[in-house]
Amino acid sequence: MSSRSLPTSVIQPSRRRLPFLLVVLGAVISAGLAGVALLLVQGAFAAVAAPFSPSATDGLIAEGMVVTIDDDDVPAVARLNRSLRDALRQAERDAAADGISLYVTSGWRSTGYQRWLFEDAVELYASEEVARQYVATPERSSHVTGDAVDVGPIDAQFWLMEHGPAYGICQTYANERWHYELATAPGGTCPEMKLDAAS
Ligand SMILES: [Zn+2]
Repeated sequence: MSSRSLPTSVIQPSRRRLPFLLVVLGAVISAGLAGVALLLVQGAFAAVAAPFSPSATDGLIAEGMVVTIDDDDVPAVARLNRSLRDALRQAERDAAADGISLYVTSGWRSTGYQRWLFEDAVELYASEEVARQYVATPERSSHVTGDAVDVGPIDAQFWLMEHGPAYGICQTYANERWHYELATAPGGTCPEMKLDAAS
């Protein structure tokens, strides 16, 4: 009968199509899962393979980059404690009048950058105890709080050693003639230097 053959012809194609659709659906889900798994694996490798590397936003002043205390667009300078920055600006102008160019070789540093420096020193000296004498931990570093600045070149360091106290700027570690902090009132007497960053 034609009334029976009609439903059969309608049902048959869809019966054939169903397994095919399931296969397609299965393939799509599998591909999706595989894709997610691949992304997770890639993410895990990226986290392991890409070590921290400081950038300008961490306060890095790359080697060969000339920065002065007036460079407000450089995070290492912009994020310094304002009173230290102002005092150093005054000193920089007076040093220039003496024919000395004063540059900032390092200023504010992010915690990550300071940790990176410290870990590098630990690797170099193969000792955490020795490393502490040369690089402060992020918890102790006055660079991280924006209270320290490293200056160069050497004639600027000697100029600041002699004239810094007039601005309240003092060398604070005996083994770092480049490292200065605001440590006294302008014209005051600098506190006795610490032996090193570990003292
Ligand atoms: Zn320093």
